[in-house]
Amino acid sequence: MDRVDAIVIGAGAVGLAVGRALAQSGRETIVVEAHPAIGQGVSSRNSEVIHAGLYYAPGSLKAKLCVRGKQLLYDLCASHGVSHRRCGKLVVAMTEAEALALQTLRSRADANGVPVQWLDGAQARALEPALDCVAALLSPSTGIVDSHGLMLALQGDFETAGGMVALGSAVDSAVLGQGGGLHLIRMADGSEVAAREIVNSASLHACALARRFEGLDKAHVPRAYFAKGNYFALAGRAPFSRLIYPAPTDAWLGVHLTLDLGGQAKFGPDLEWLSVDGPDDIDYQVDPRRADGFYARVRHYWPQLPDGALQPSYSGVRPKIHGPGESAPDFRIDGPALHGVPGLVNLFGIESPGLTSSLAIAEHVAALFERSSP
Ligand SMILES: Cc1cc2nc3c(=O)[nH]c(=O)nc-3n(C[C@H](O)[C@H](O)[C@H](O)COP(=O)(O)OP(=O)(O)OC[C@H]3O[C@@H](n4cnc5c(N)ncnc54)[C@H](O)[C@@H]3O)c2cc1C
Repeated sequence: MDRVDAIVIGAGAVGLAVGRALAQSGRETIVVEAHPAIGQGVSSRNSEVIHAGLYYAPGSLKAKLCVRGKQLLYDLCASHGVSHRRCGKLVVAMTEAEALALQTLRSRADANGVPVQWLDGAQARALEPALDCVAALLSPSTGIVDSHGLMLALQGDFETAGGMVALGSAVDSAVLGQGGGLHLIRMADGSEVAAREIVNSASLHACALARRFEGLDKAHVPRAYFAKGNYFALAGRAPFSRLIYPAPTDAWLGVHLTLDLGGQAKFGPDLEWLSVDGPDDIDYQVDPRRADGFYARVRHYWPQLPDGALQPSYSGVRPKIHGPGESAPDFRIDGPALHGVPGLVNLFGIESPGLTSSLAIAEHVAALFERSSP
């Protein structure tokens, strides 16, 4: 049986970043991935926005890891030539009530150490003339990134540090705390690998997988929920050079306008709670009938959106650990101090801003192992 220091389950942006951090700390590390290629999960179905860290409760993991992750991500993009653009974004208020909500967001940004600038309607229109709003918050440190370029850079660093990505290698289950502090990982093909440390970074599958870890009290595994986000692409060029977000609600950030690195605009994601048994039952098709809701929401801040301009595009699904109507919880990065199993970290509910936070999540996971090692 093969034996390594660490196994990371899942080769998305977060799993690859964690694998990189563990390999760079000198551990013999394997990242195992069920798909035949890296980055086929949530990491390739998102807005590719480098979030500034405006929205999250001060002191929360989301706030700390987003702000730290943003800096690490910009540095990595610069040093590794990953395509990105610090284009900035405007969060816009259409009514005085929404302007009050923006004031709350401004205080939150201040508390999180995130630079923002308050603009009245005229100042916002001076930047983005097509916009209709009474006030806006400008976030200059928000940007966009090529998520596949990022993951290739992470994989490159990981392999340079001696790590190995095993593709087409699905984990079936694990027996934790076998002799000598080793965990036994059972692969779907019947083979077994022993490791001192396991990181469950399986995203949409993380909760179901953790339930198949013998030796982990299932009270430490949250219930999984799945919330789809649909995108519509704009035919033609958008008259905006920054990302445009409506004032946020708790469950999601609202139907926003994002730009890709080629300047093409898309709107989304919306929020569609799914009642599927598991991630394998998800249908990623975008229902064209959802366009009506998009036109209404987008015309709120861009009244000139032409009829027929929105085309169904792609969708992604959020790995949620809370249900409809419940407040969005923090990231769960459950280490040994929480569940009592040495050498195990479970990552649950790594939805947005998980891409932005990936490098900081990796630092955090490595620190959890350092803290708990004898
Ligand atoms: C609609 C949407 C928009 C978003 N927008 C943004 C954004 O703009 N900015 C931002 O910062 N974040 C955003 N996010 C969040 C971000 O995309 C995720 O937090 C991040 O990509 C999660 O990465 P991951 O590595 O945890 O998951 P994934 O990329 O899903 O990787 C998990 C991997 O685990 C593998 N796996 C699962 N089970 C097994 C198993 N048993 N054995 C082996 N492998 C397994 C899967 O195949 C998959 O490749 C968005 C998310 C969504 C859904």
